[in-house]
Amino acid sequence: MIRFESVTKRYPDGTVAVDALSLEIPDRSITVLVGPSGCGKTTSLRMINRMTDPSDGRILLDGEDSRRQPVHALRRSMGYVIQHAGLFPHRTVVDNIATVPRLLGRDRREARTRALELMERVGLDPAMARRYPYQLSGGQQQRVGVARALAADPPVLLMDEPFSAVDPVVRKGLQEELLRIQAELGKTIVFVTHDIDEAIRLGDMVAVLRTGGRLAQFDPPDRLLSAPADAFVEDFLGTDRGIRRLSFFGSAQLELTTAPVVALGAAAEPGPAPYLLVTDAERRPLGWAEPARYAAGEQALLPYGRPFEVGRDSLRAALDCAVLSPTGWAVGVDGAGRVVGVASQETVGAAIRAAHAAATPGEDAAPVAGVGG
Ligand code: ADP
Repeated sequence: MIRFESVTKRYPDGTVAVDALSLEIPDRSITVLVGPSGCGKTTSLRMINRMTDPSDGRILLDGEDSRRQPVHALRRSMGYVIQHAGLFPHRTVVDNIATVPRLLGRDRREARTRALELMERVGLDPAMARRYPYQLSGGQQQRVGVARALAADPPVLLMDEPFSAVDPVVRKGLQEELLRIQAELGKTIVFVTHDIDEAIRLGDMVAVLRTGGRLAQFDPPDRLLSAPADAFVEDFLGTDRGIRRLSFFGSAQLELTTAPVVALGAAAEPGPAPYLLVTDAERRPLGWAEPARYAAGEQALLPYGRPFEVGRDSLRAALDCAVLSPTGWAVGVDGAGRVVGVASQETVGAAIRAAHAAATPGEDAAPVAGVGG
């Protein structure tokens, strides 16, 4: 475990970059340091692998003061990924990734075999092994940076704004890849970003820092969204907090009905919904129909929008689906795209209220002082 104990960093010019920071970074999970530019995130990260040392306080690594550990052994146990990847421009992709294993004394062939494995792990086509960094896109370079950091199989990964310089679509791909790799490898990851959405998507725990390197809040992301510690955190989280929190509630508990679902050509029973969801023979959705028009054999259907995958997608996806649906009903499908059932906006609303009540027992039902009587 990485533990900050009242760590302060004062630079020689008097700037206090980090101010009495205390933080316990849990093992085998992703902890994100987030906050506005200049709030001390990078300085905090660089103190973990001793690229800079605290002015006061100490950092414990598995209970031992980091200053007591030889710097080279400590750095070897921590992969480091930075913005723009920081690759060696005159080395091929495979040699960039093999750098650390080679330094650690692995023979060339072994190091290259490992590098090729890592390329696949981070979603890079091994055919790119002989390219030079300038022949790769920004997103591909970042993948090489992650592969290089993983090459010596360190228990800790330090990542400093690794995805900030790539466009939003590529960034989302890199984030998904990181979560997938983390699910397989279970590293202790400390991830710095100024992007609160990235922090919420990636973090098991999120530390929000304010200018002057002071900790504003340290919580799991759903807690951050539901109970920001103060006005600074609330402001930093931005709008749509309630909607974004729905991402943490699963759709498995949502009550679906199959009553309005009908296979094309089959006779429709009168049901509770003002519309029928017409499917093909494999139960894949085709569109919504008004019952009377369907009975009269009319073919025109209203679009069903984007369905949500029951269990896998969140209540946020289900709500979005219901809001975007021309009928106000969301379509739930299984992994193969077959209809499991449909739910009205009211039903989605009830599931949201139930999820809130389960997540914060007592809070939702608390009376508002001064109201009623
Ligand atoms: P962040 O990563 O959150 O943007 P930094 O840790 O890079 O913040 O910087 C925190 C503060 O420390 C800033 O005010 C920055 O200007 C200052 N700072 C960073 N490095 C140095 C340095 N080497 N000398 C003096 N001040 C520095």
